[in-house]
Amino acid sequence: VKPRALRSELRKLLEPGSVLPDVAPLYLVDAAGALGFVGSADAIVRPVSAHEVATLVAWCDSHDVPVTPRGGGTGLSGGAVPLEGGVVVDMVRLRRVRALDPLQWRMQVEAGLPTGEVHRLARENGLLYPPDPGASEQSQLGGNVATNAGGPHAFKYGVTGAWVTGLEVVTASGDLVQLGGATRKDVAGYDLRRLFIGSEGTLGIVTAAWLRLTPAPERRLALTAFYPGTPEGAAAIQQVIGSGLVPAALEYLDPGALAAVAATYPGQLPVGAGFAVLAEADGGHDEALTLREALADALSDGALALECHVPADALWRWRDSVSGAVASILGSKFSEDVAVPVDRLGEAIEITIEVAAAHGLPACSWGHAGDGNLHSTFLLAAGDVDALSRAEDAAAALFAQIRALGGSLSGEHGIGSFKRHHLLAMHDPAELRLLRAVKRALDPKGLMNPGKVI
Ligand SMILES: Cc1cc2nc3c(=O)[nH]c(=O)nc-3n(C[C@H](O)[C@H](O)[C@H](O)COP(=O)(O)OP(=O)(O)OC[C@H]3O[C@@H](n4cnc5c(N)ncnc54)[C@H](O)[C@@H]3O)c2cc1C
Repeated sequence: VKPRALRSELRKLLEPGSVLPDVAPLYLVDAAGALGFVGSADAIVRPVSAHEVATLVAWCDSHDVPVTPRGGGTGLSGGAVPLEGGVVVDMVRLRRVRALDPLQWRMQVEAGLPTGEVHRLARENGLLYPPDPGASEQSQLGGNVATNAGGPHAFKYGVTGAWVTGLEVVTASGDLVQLGGATRKDVAGYDLRRLFIGSEGTLGIVTAAWLRLTPAPERRLALTAFYPGTPEGAAAIQQVIGSGLVPAALEYLDPGALAAVAATYPGQLPVGAGFAVLAEADGGHDEALTLREALADALSDGALALECHVPADALWRWRDSVSGAVASILGSKFSEDVAVPVDRLGEAIEITIEVAAAHGLPACSWGHAGDGNLHSTFLLAAGDVDALSRAEDAAAALFAQIRALGGSLSGEHGIGSFKRHHLLAMHDPAELRLLRAVKRALDPKGLMNPGKVI
């Protein structure tokens, strides 16, 4: 179907105003930095209801038109970039709160609700929705479900999927189905809900989710500790884990990342600081205080730490500024989000630097230490095509070593379009057969977000 004819057919089928007059460039990219792909689309549709999504997808299925679901567009793996034309489904107008039951610690919201709104709604009712991916004001709950997004507090509380008890999805053929619901336990049949969580829009479109919430902690107390370098910092992280203490968050900055934000630290950095660990203690009033003291002991045990600080409130804002500060060192960056078993974190941090050096690139990393999740980052000048190509080679070498440590190509951002060929090259053929079988069973025509994941 030609783009203009397609738009006119969709206008007949859908609500007035749901088909946008043209294809704005912002729908053809996501938030990926140096490697950002630009896609192409024939129509952008902004449905107002789950039923309208179902009508649209059924029509696309019967006319062989590709469909790319889009949330807030903050993805970092090219997942929402339409690679094969067709229709981009912008979920922004599906943002109703269908149910809010504070006494039952749960809510049901539509997929286009911004993550930050979910946080606010929970907070206003004395509750906590813990998943806290960095771009919460722009990302949507549906995008978080589709990427199974994490964040600093995933260490104690788990990633998005841990808080989803039910999903409403539109399948690739246009059926509107409920998978699970408000019930907290459900083992009837295969766990289809889990299959859709993290499927990056390749199996269907999430239109709403039942979320479980938890009573908000009374208090959150932060702590930072500084070390001369990576070996000492990584050893301190192991000490915290081995101590049995459960911080709400346990993050790190390696020497390069720390140098990028040293000037803006909300406090005094000790002389010789080459590695930072950030921790948060939460809980009841006294419980949080006791935990922070115990964490300070664990982080300074064996005199590894140069200093342990109780920083100003601005600590998490400072932590959020790391990515931008690192990008501004040379003008651009190529960032990965690999994950390793937590006892291999120190090695993975060193490997990032070694692999980059072998490709003539400066590098650094920071990330979610408690989850063994690194933002391994290669620095380059904006528009430096040669450096970009070396960064891609460095990423491939990094992935091979991370896999050898028992790790994963992606702990947070997903495979999308960027890492698809690495997944195909590095995963076991038998596993790839299972992944393909799932895709074929749920999306036999391959029209749902084509070119992504598998
Ligand atoms: C500054 C910054 C910080 C970030 N920090 C984190 C972090 O801490 N942790 C983390 O995990 N990620 C992080 N991210 C990545 C990104 O925010 C997450 O992947 C987020 O979950 C994407 O949500 P979105 O709504 O923007 O989805 P999009 O980018 O629009 O889409 C992402 C993928 O989900 C699919 N999708 C979107 N909506 C739906 C739907 N309703 N149904 C089916 N499929 C859908 C798309 O097709 C695409 O494959 C960060 C990104 C930025 C820019």
